[in-house]
Amino acid sequence: MMNGKVAEIFHSIQGEGLYQGAGQVFIRLYGCNLHCAFCDTPLGEFREMSADELCAELEKYPRQLPLSLTGGEPLLQAEFAAEVLRLVKHTGRQVHLETNGTLPDEFALVEKYVDFVAMDFKLPSSARCGTLWERHRDFLDKAKAKPMCVKTVIGPRTRFRDVARAVELIRAAQEKIPLILQPQHPYEERLESRLFRWAAACESRGVETRIIGQLHAQLGIR
Ligand code: SF4
Repeated sequence: MMNGKVAEIFHSIQGEGLYQGAGQVFIRLYGCNLHCAFCDTPLGEFREMSADELCAELEKYPRQLPLSLTGGEPLLQAEFAAEVLRLVKHTGRQVHLETNGTLPDEFALVEKYVDFVAMDFKLPSSARCGTLWERHRDFLDKAKAKPMCVKTVIGPRTRFRDVARAVELIRAAQEKIPLILQPQHPYEERLESRLFRWAAACESRGVETRIIGQLHAQLGIR
């Protein structure tokens, strides 16, 4: 049995996306393959744990709380994640995966254990970590059979042409995948009119679109 690098495990509410406000247990795996300009994830330390040890910790939380497997990028440790999720599924707990949507082959290792995928779409003008269109397209293609949503951060530098290209890729994969425009924290009021216009433009291109901020940032909780 392999060990994984685990940054933290904790109970909170989901701060982003379609499940915002719902209680979940978070397992944050250590490490990321990207360097987004707006990254606010503290990933300084980790514990080495076996899948059994991690699942024993998870069992301290009621099973009706879904697990949110997050990072960093949890699919960087896809083999370990698959081992953990296989054990978790035996307990009947729901599994949500939060991913930056750049590791489609690794997703294939965990796919059968995952009930919901929250994929981040990294726009070049927002995240400034290079162009990831092809990797996002391949990921969408692999994940589209699952219930899922796509989130993308909208900040002062975001260009609509990037948003429109993301919408094209989502539609090409599966037009029923909802898109969430997430205003970058701290929220700037001047973003407001752009957000409303862009959400309407995404809708008019055939993708259900919502504007949802980061609840944990607003409440000052983890
Ligand atoms: S993918 Fe997420 S954890 Fe990784 S650098 Fe970007 S924001 Fe941070």
